[in-house]
Amino acid sequence: MTDFKLIPDAQWRERLTPEEYHVLREAGTEPPGVGEYTNTTTEGVYCCRACGTELFRSTEKFESHCGWPSFFSPADSDKVIEREDRSLGMVRTEVICANCESHLGHVFAGEGYQTPTDLRYCINSISLRLDERPVD
Ligand SMILES: [Zn+2]
Repeated sequence: MTDFKLIPDAQWRERLTPEEYHVLREAGTEPPGVGEYTNTTTEGVYCCRACGTELFRSTEKFESHCGWPSFFSPADSDKVIEREDRSLGMVRTEVICANCESHLGHVFAGEGYQTPTDLRYCINSISLRLDERPVD
């Protein structure tokens, strides 16, 4: 089994497109509103585009109108790592894939969304790949 945490940078550049590499491996952010999954309501599981780990499900996706796919919870809290991000002069919580440590997006709390958690996992479409299938 591949240990994605040991993949050298040069190999990530070969595995990913330049756009995917920038977001996943350099913690970039895709522009709002352009991501392919921003408004997607299709049933399925969203997997890490870098390593294929199942991260989010359509059942926790909600319409936040923020310009990026938004989830109120990951499919399994063990699948993502949350860590402090002090870039851009702000204190935010970065969300990365626990399996390959690629950047996914950020999580914001207490914004008043009518969801079970009041959390918004604001995730780049380009960090995900939707596997269309029934979700329990
Ligand atoms: Zn991953």
